[in-house]
Amino acid sequence: MRCVVANWKMNLRSGEAQAFCEDLLLRLPEGGSAEVGIAPPFTLLSLVSGLVRPRGLQVFGQNAHAEDKGAFTGEVSMPQLRDVGCSGVLLGHSERRQFFGETDAGLIKKIKAAWQWDLLPLLCIGESLAERDSGATLDVLGRQLSILAETGPGPLWVAYEPVWAIGTGRRAEAPQVQEAHAFIRAELIRHGACTDYEVPILYGGSVTPESFPELLGIPEVAGGLVGGASLDPHKFGELIKQAG
Ligand code: PEP
Repeated sequence: MRCVVANWKMNLRSGEAQAFCEDLLLRLPEGGSAEVGIAPPFTLLSLVSGLVRPRGLQVFGQNAHAEDKGAFTGEVSMPQLRDVGCSGVLLGHSERRQFFGETDAGLIKKIKAAWQWDLLPLLCIGESLAERDSGATLDVLGRQLSILAETGPGPLWVAYEPVWAIGTGRRAEAPQVQEAHAFIRAELIRHGACTDYEVPILYGGSVTPESFPELLGIPEVAGGLVGGASLDPHKFGELIKQAG
């Protein structure tokens, strides 16, 4: 299964989102088999769900709180994501870890809460440049994945996103991606998160239509989590076509 997911981050207003979706829907390949998702900001979830879900696209929240409800000003819960048409949620994006104090312990609760509400977690992991330069990449990925020993198995997508490749235009080289994805697959199996190949592992970090075909040819790369290029319906449509 191939998967392409757009992470819009804190971009677009309603008029722009509507225009994007209308344009993208015209570009969807006939008979395409890739799973396509869009993760808009919370304010656009209802609008985007209404436009794209009838065409089989999935909608993801970019984050959610682990509690169902309560006194958590500024937060949004898993049931609230479901309520506006989400089928999944990004969890552990490096920008959440870096700027908003997301921790591995907190992610255990969030993954369990997502499952409780029948939302598919898209768990994002990846090393910083300092960690790569010091040879710690696989240790970091191993630590970030070790939370799966606590959550137990369940429906999951994983995105390998080297932090230094996100939004920088500097994509990881094929051997780096191959090594990381093979390691992630082995860890998923070791933790019992998957016994076969049912957990797709996406690559994220400056993916463009120019680089995606090479990435898709790397073993264990099931698709892409795309930031910058996903804000352009022409480029995102190309990525969907390339995924097949
Ligand atoms: C991301 O934020 O998940 C991402 C991959 O961004 P970009 O494609 O812009 O590097």
